[in-house]
Amino acid sequence: MIIRARVVVTMDGPPIDNGAVVVSGDRIVDVGKFSEISKQYSTEEVVDLGEQALLPGLINAHCHLDYTCLRGKIPRPKSFTDWIRAINAEKANLSQVDYAASIDEGFAEVKRFGATTIANLAAFPELISQIESPIRTWWFAELIDVRDPSRAVEIVDVAVKKLKSTEHWGLAPHAPFTASANLYRRCQEIARRENVLLTTHLAESREEMSMFRDSKGPLYEFLKEIGRDMGDCGDETPLRRFSEILRDSSASVGMTENWILTHLNELAENDFDLIPRSKNKFSIVHCPRSHAYFRQSPFQFEKLRKPGFNVCLGTDSLASNDDLSLFGEMRAFQKEFPNVLPEEILKMVTTHSARALGQEDWLGKVRSGSEADLIAIPVARHGESVQRRTRSTSLFEEIIAFDRPVGWSMIGGRVLA
Ligand SMILES: [Zn+2]
Repeated sequence: MIIRARVVVTMDGPPIDNGAVVVSGDRIVDVGKFSEISKQYSTEEVVDLGEQALLPGLINAHCHLDYTCLRGKIPRPKSFTDWIRAINAEKANLSQVDYAASIDEGFAEVKRFGATTIANLAAFPELISQIESPIRTWWFAELIDVRDPSRAVEIVDVAVKKLKSTEHWGLAPHAPFTASANLYRRCQEIARRENVLLTTHLAESREEMSMFRDSKGPLYEFLKEIGRDMGDCGDETPLRRFSEILRDSSASVGMTENWILTHLNELAENDFDLIPRSKNKFSIVHCPRSHAYFRQSPFQFEKLRKPGFNVCLGTDSLASNDDLSLFGEMRAFQKEFPNVLPEEILKMVTTHSARALGQEDWLGKVRSGSEADLIAIPVARHGESVQRRTRSTSLFEEIIAFDRPVGWSMIGGRVLA
């Protein structure tokens, strides 16, 4: 099948005007100018998408579909700890049936907004086998042992059993304030053994920083009250605490490439001293609208991008966001960082997030050999460029500005209904 569009945005070179993509089975087998492709593959059926840009399906690097049903339920809290209390109160009213419905609803929404792949954290891995995911899904079991750290290993092992029936899975120790060092270490052991990915929330809030570094603040008080051993608090930043935990688990491993670290909003100056020393460059997920909801400290994008970290975007959940659109996240990022080129921003939901999932050879680009995961969105003709911008920049601007449901998408060569 040949798919023709006004422009093909490959993320693997300059956009191709009047371009075409040849799809065979679940793969892309060729990409080029429609005039050449149509001659070379003259017997193939042609699907003409008209005045649209064809681009790689978007990849959401961090989401919790469990909480889709909490949209609009938690007003912006005074503190991160108040939000934890509020979400815990909401969760107490939800059954497994509610969560399954919430996940289904979330999948429909991410699909509608052009995501073809998602890294989804699941608090109830037992639900995964009941859910049919309409897009490529990396299921991460979200693991917490704050109320029962003596069961750390068991909690991880039970989750792994439930995850093994899925194609793509990984482990998500929730955060250093809710998951013990033993739980992190067990996850790291399993990840090495099974060659799977790991993700965690890290340095998200000021309260997490004051808890670990200064033994004080609302999060410190809240967790002490529920019986957490606060012996790991008092001198280190969350990032240093995390790297200590992993260093202990193996002298040679430390933070490795299979870690996807979400947030990193709160970094102290001495955290940046630690960063160049880390041999392997882990991936970092920034969630712009969740970040704005909590009024977190400014995200240190340039300081993280410079040493070569792979920064991607995610939506986080609807307990701290309005919708699950990655276009919305790109726009929010652009507002925070107006000097970053729109093409660079689009990479954060395509090539960068593919790399975070270890899929840079198969996902995130329109090129021969990749999975045929594509979306199309209407674009205007780009005859005249906007002042001082190149023609290509204005195309990427237009893509980021797209704020409607995506009308056409394909996953693995199959057009989605
Ligand atoms: Zn999250």
